[in-house]
Amino acid sequence: MLGWGLVGASTIAREWMIPAINGEAESRVVAVTGGDPDHVARYASELAIPRTHPTLEALLTDPEVAIVYVSGTNDRHHGPSIAAAQAGKHVLCEKPLALTIGDARAMVEACRVANVVLGTNHHLRNAVTHRALRRLVGEGVIGEPLAARVFHAVQLPPHLRGWRIDRPEAGGGVTLDITVHDADTLRFVLAAEVVEVTAFAAGQGMATAGLEDSVMGVMRFDSGVLAQFHDAFTIPHAATGFEVHGSEGSLIGRDVMTQRPIGSITLRRDGRDVEIDPGPAENLYARSVRRFNAAVRGAGPPAATGDDGVRSLAVALAVRESAATGRAATVVYG
Ligand code: NDP
Repeated sequence: MLGWGLVGASTIAREWMIPAINGEAESRVVAVTGGDPDHVARYASELAIPRTHPTLEALLTDPEVAIVYVSGTNDRHHGPSIAAAQAGKHVLCEKPLALTIGDARAMVEACRVANVVLGTNHHLRNAVTHRALRRLVGEGVIGEPLAARVFHAVQLPPHLRGWRIDRPEAGGGVTLDITVHDADTLRFVLAAEVVEVTAFAAGQGMATAGLEDSVMGVMRFDSGVLAQFHDAFTIPHAATGFEVHGSEGSLIGRDVMTQRPIGSITLRRDGRDVEIDPGPAENLYARSVRRFNAAVRGAGPPAATGDDGVRSLAVALAVRESAATGRAATVVYG
């Protein structure tokens, strides 16, 4: 049995990751730690987590913890991940891996030196829809990919409107929250790397403290593809989507930029639209956990590696730089 220890009594763990970990026959959440003892105690009791630890250090000496899932606010990923690696624990970290490329690279290096697995919890590449899109693009079904469009503007649910909209020092803002996912999903589907970005960001009434709650821009890939993206916390009525347009056809994904295993894919080619059956839908987080458990057992890499997390962060930081300077920004992978 693989014991998971939670660093962060968070909403993502409550809503998705704890059920996903406990849903696998080979893993269980065994312990949790966090900053507010009363909150952590209530959380553990509500979610039937066997143990709470008063500190990170105590959790890291728990012999039943083999894997640490880091899901505090974005500023509290780097330190705990490095400490976990140094204690010999495998690390699945939430996105963005860190607030700087230097810190994210240090996490990768600490896990490499300690010979433990590092994964980034980019859930979307676990969706059957995105895996089908990657396969179809790779098989040349739409010819040469030329352009992509990502529609990922949503209304941030009220229970998530804390640090994301008012705490820059915690890593708030829509770019670190949503654009990192776009970058990872585009890299995954297109099997290409972003080299340059241009973007505009805005505060449209939800975020404060100088944070952006809306961002739109273009990414240029090393393959020549141009990808348009729109991410927001402020748009209540737009559907999400992911499109790839090629020289011979287009793939049109609808309702696919979401945590739930839903959405459709249409192939438009030769003058007609064909609905694609991507295969059986599966909970995205369950697949992420399954792949991470397997990686710990030596059976392949996690769904998204530490390096994938560095790369999605690098794109997001370039988007921020472009929005701040009004100029195109080169993506610096460190
Ligand atoms: P939350 O705001 O729910 O939790 C973040 C931290 O805030 C917790 O770890 C906890 O701190 C503290 N906290 C939360 N609720 C309380 C409370 N009632 N009382 C006291 N402290 C509290 O964040 P999210 O779950 O929304 O996000 C956490 C991370 O997960 C972020 O990095 C985010 O980017 C990522 N995320 C990833 C998603 C994905 O699909 N991959 C989806 C959503 C989020 P402490 O650590 O001290 O216990």
